Amino acid sequence: MALVILSAVSGTGKSTVVAELLKRYPRLRLSVSHTTRAMRPGEQDGVHYHFVSRPEFEALRDAGGFAEWTEYAGNLYGTAHQTIKAAEEADLDLLLEVEVEGAHNLVSQFPAALTVFLLPPSIEALAQRLRGRGTEAEEVIARRLEIGRREFGKVTDFQYWVINDRVERAAEEIGQIYSAFADRRRRLKSHVERLQAQNA
Ligand code: 5GP
Repeated sequence: MALVILSAVSGTGKSTVVAELLKRYPRLRLSVSHTTRAMRPGEQDGVHYHFVSRPEFEALRDAGGFAEWTEYAGNLYGTAHQTIKAAEEADLDLLLEVEVEGAHNLVSQFPAALTVFLLPPSIEALAQRLRGRGTEAEEVIARRLEIGRREFGKVTDFQYWVINDRVERAAEEIGQIYSAFADRRRRLKSHVERLQAQNA
């Protein structure tokens, strides 16, 4: 199983790029996070997120159910251990769409993960997309833009940077990075297995 961690500032259009990647790569599964955020129009429970109440989230967190979790713009988000385990058992690659702090937490647990930061072509495009959704209050948008300014300072912690100027192009570029990474991992794994067998 290869882990692919994708981060982007809110409003970059990450979900559209992710949808395109999932279409192109059947081995790649999206890690469906838990969140206390309200569902946006078009989102489905169990597909985009597991939408839960704050007490439900906290109960799962306190029981040690999350590999990582964070509070972002007033809502809780977390990756369940179970999600990672299921991908591992099915020998699928897992795409984790998390903010910067979550990416750091995951990398400390899974140092072999691939990390990609998706950048917007401009700040205007970012603000426009956030407002265009029409689902967030102006105050929430301002908060997300403020968090974004801090997140841009962390981009160099990621292995790759891709600009989302066009969805198709960005998905193509991330796809190439992912394919090369996953192929290399598979080759390395089978080589190591051969070495271990010879050494047995
Ligand atoms: P949104 O509310 O726009 O769907 O997500 C807000 C931010 O939370 C995004 O940066 C998204 O990538 C991040 N996020 C979504 N799920 C998780 C998660 O499980 N863990 C962490 N750390 N961040 C997440």
